[in-house]
This record gives sequence, structure tokens and C-alpha cells, in this order.
Amino acid sequence: MAIDQFTGPSTAAVHAGEPRQRAFDAITPPVVHSATYTFRDSAELIAFQSGDLEREEYGRYGNPTVRAVEARLAALESPTAPAAALLCASGMNALTTVMLALLPSGSHVILTDDGYRRTRQFVRTMLARLGVTHSVVAAADPAAIAAAIEPGRTRLIVTEAPTNPYLRVIDLAAVASIAREHRIKTLIDATFATPYNMRPLEYGIDLVVHSCSKYLAGHNDLLAGVIIGRPPIISALRETQGILGGICDPHTAYLLGRGLKTFALRMERHNHNGQAVAEFLARHPRVSRVHYPGLPEHPDHAVARAQMRGFGGVVSFEVVGDLQSAMAVVDRLRLPYIAPSFGGVESLVEQPALMSYYELSSEERLAVGIRDNLIRLSCGIEDVSDLIADLQQALADE
Ligand SMILES: *Cc1c(COP(=O)(O)O)cnc(C)c1O
Repeated sequence: MAIDQFTGPSTAAVHAGEPRQRAFDAITPPVVHSATYTFRDSAELIAFQSGDLEREEYGRYGNPTVRAVEARLAALESPTAPAAALLCASGMNALTTVMLALLPSGSHVILTDDGYRRTRQFVRTMLARLGVTHSVVAAADPAAIAAAIEPGRTRLIVTEAPTNPYLRVIDLAAVASIAREHRIKTLIDATFATPYNMRPLEYGIDLVVHSCSKYLAGHNDLLAGVIIGRPPIISALRETQGILGGICDPHTAYLLGRGLKTFALRMERHNHNGQAVAEFLARHPRVSRVHYPGLPEHPDHAVARAQMRGFGGVVSFEVVGDLQSAMAVVDRLRLPYIAPSFGGVESLVEQPALMSYYELSSEERLAVGIRDNLIRLSCGIEDVSDLIADLQQALADE
């Protein structure tokens, strides 16, 4: 049995993309710190330039350590159909690389709301300067996407699932079918889902982007991003990266590859902890609302169940009261650190009103759907009984 015939996510997370026999017979892959690559003679150079020889050339165009991790990420995202991956300097760099490559001046892009704020900012400010217009429509609403299409001008649909912070989950097959009908490309930022929980390419989505800084690396110790899709479109995007220069360096790629070894194990625990914490919070009298796709009362529960293996470690919830009440709960928590980000082994907690949306007034925040009493908890891989005990004491009356 060839190594690429094993398609389980745990097996892929450990083995995919790595040659069986490695440099010096070491079990760990080499970290190739090289800015450039040497040619034996002019004949070898000519063979390379004419396409007869595949090999490295210069650090901005590829690196063996980076390529191994790219192959592993592609195998995780697409265990059976051919796919390729392009590692980038960060999740944002992955998103901007795709949009700069696919959106010519005069074109139009559709975004969904409740999404990563910097993505919207990039489209609103930088792409607008390049003559690209956009529409923002409601998250998890394929009909709203269809209605926003400007025939002939719309080139790209950018969605996210689950969204941030309300964890909305869009029907992927519906989006893909609308896009195909109009010959529009689709991109999904699936950072909150990861390929362990959802595989959008199998529903006909063209490109998947992840911030590897979250679950994929999993240890809150690096920044990287990845774009995954069918090989021809990834080759084209690699050309764009060669121009823009937003590469992932070999040391970061090594750390990402190391983190990936335990990816499936960690996701199992994140899913388990997220579900149990969401169920606990949903029953708590001092919690007015819980947003988690694994709960039957979540508006996208049915779509999420059909499309996802599990629902991840991020749980958003609203405490009874106002900004101060939520601050008091956050400050009483002992296990989670107050920090942006999620998806690492350590639990993190934040109030969107004080973190990503701090510079907006309470009214402006409400207009974009961010309530002051909202808390976003990213469950790490700690024991769930400890996480729940901590929440229990933090939510108790003083
Ligand atoms: C973190 C994040 C990004 C940006 O990723 P970086 O690696 O921080 O640049 C984009 N989208 C989502 C959904 C994210 O959570």
C-alpha cells in the first residue's frame, strides 16, 4: 500500500508529504535554511529553465521544508482528489495574495459579514484603491450572495465558516452551485473549521484559506497562512507570491509541521471541550445566549451537522448584564489567558468589544452586531472538568 492511499486525518497529519527515507536517516525532516540553490553547471541551469528539470532555484520561489508541509496540508484538506497548497507569511497574507491575484481593476467581490475584520478592511480600503468594488452580505445566506452578483463583474465570492464571533455556517454546496452558474470563483476562510472538521473543496469550493497561526500550528507560537485548491490555480497563485514575496520561512514551516503531527488529536479534544462547555453555558442562569453550531438552538445547526465532523473549541456567549458584567466574568477566570487568537493548546478568552472592536462606540459595535456582554472563549486542550469548574466559579454571584 502506497503512503498516499492512507487517507485518515491522523495518519495524514503525521506522515503526508514526508519522504519515507530522509536526509541522514533522521526521522525529523531537515530545516533547509538556504536563500539560494546552486547549479552544477550551465547545462543543469538550461535544463531547469526549459522545464526539463524540477528543482529549487531561489528562496522566494520555494523551499524543501516548506514544500513538505504544503504537501501535508493539501493531503489533509483533500485526502482523495488532487490538491496543492501554498504556504504564506500569515493568514492575512494568504487572503490578500488570492484577492490581488484574482481581482482585476473594475471587478467586483462579494464578502459575507460576521467575518474577519481585517479581510473586510483590506477590501474596503486597498482593493477599492485598485478599482475593485465589493458588496457585504449576511453570513450563512446563499440567497443573499446570489442577489449581490453583478453579472460580468463579480469575479470572486469570499465566505467564512464558521464565522467570527457568531460561528455561522454557510451551506457550501449552495454557494458553489451559485458560483458555478455565474462562472465565479469561490474562496472560503475556514480557519475556525480546519480540515479536520470540514473540507470545503469536496463541496465544490475553489479555494480554502486557513490561518495556520490557529489550530493547524496549535501552540500559539507562530504566524503562517495557507491557500489550498486544485493544482493549476495554486501554481498561478505561487507565481503571484513570487512577485508579492509573502513567503513562509523554513523555521516557521518546521514548527508548523511539528505542530501538525498532533493536529487530529488536538482537534478531537478541542471539539469535545467546545461542545461540553457550550452545553454547560447553555444551562447556566447567568448566561443569556450561547453561540455554538453544535447546539440545536444555533441557527445553522442542521447545515453544520451535515457538513462538519465537529464544531471546534471556540464558544461565544453573552452574560446577563452589560460590558462590566462580562468584564467581571472574564477577570474571575483562572485558566484562560486574556488574549486575541484561538486554536492553541492554552484556553484564551476575550471580549470582542474590548479587543477587535475597541475603537468603535457601543452604538457602532451594535450596528455591526457586536454586543458589549459578548465573550469569546477558545477552549484549549485542558481537562474539560477543569474548564467547566473555572467557568462555574467565574459565573457565580460575588
Ligand atoms: C486569525 C485569522 C486570520 C488572519 O490570520 P493571521 O495568521 O493572523 O494573519 C484570518 N481569518 C480568520 C478567520 C482568522 O481567525
